[in-house]
Amino acid sequence: MLIGPGGVGKGTLARRLVDVDDRLWLSRSWTTREQRAGERGDEYHFVDRATFQRAIEEGRFLEWAEFHGNLYGTPMPDAPEHADVLLEIEVQGAEQVRQRRSDAVVFLILPPSMERLEERLRHRGDDDEHVAVRLSSAPAELEKGQQLASHVIVNDDVERASSQILSILEELRQLRRNPSSKD
Ligand code: 5GP
Repeated sequence: MLIGPGGVGKGTLARRLVDVDDRLWLSRSWTTREQRAGERGDEYHFVDRATFQRAIEEGRFLEWAEFHGNLYGTPMPDAPEHADVLLEIEVQGAEQVRQRRSDAVVFLILPPSMERLEERLRHRGDDDEHVAVRLSSAPAELEKGQQLASHVIVNDDVERASSQILSILEELRQLRRNPSSKD
């Protein structure tokens, strides 16, 4: 899982990771949020609240959470066998996944600075009010994120940060294949 405050670049990192590592399978979340101007239609499965709520009742989510008034959820993964599932989610969802899957690995993605975070939020087209709301929740997300994280990654540069994540994943896969290689 990749977690971290909105605007930190989790989406770009996630896309880069699946491009480079073909054993990773990126989950596509459902959301009731409106599609942003300029946002790709395949970023999410965009649905209305009634449809989302029905899917909750039908047990179709691995996790779901309400974030700033919208619902977000991970459908039960339909990944090929042997793939490692990559989720890009907020902290409440990450906590639920951690409870269900003790082998889940959590990467907390940090911005190089709060100023850069604000810049990125503005760049992706959120208006002032949205930027302010999202920035105001960043400290709580970071605090909860620190508690959940197995690894903390500073996203100062997408290539560097993704290489760091990929090398940690490689070590974890090595351990999974050969648990005694730990020491
Ligand atoms: P945004 O509206 O900026 O696309 O996403 C808002 C937050 O929801 C981000 O932190 C994003 O990672 C998170 N998010 C996206 N998909 C999911 C999901 O399926 N479940 C949960 N719990 N959070 C999600």
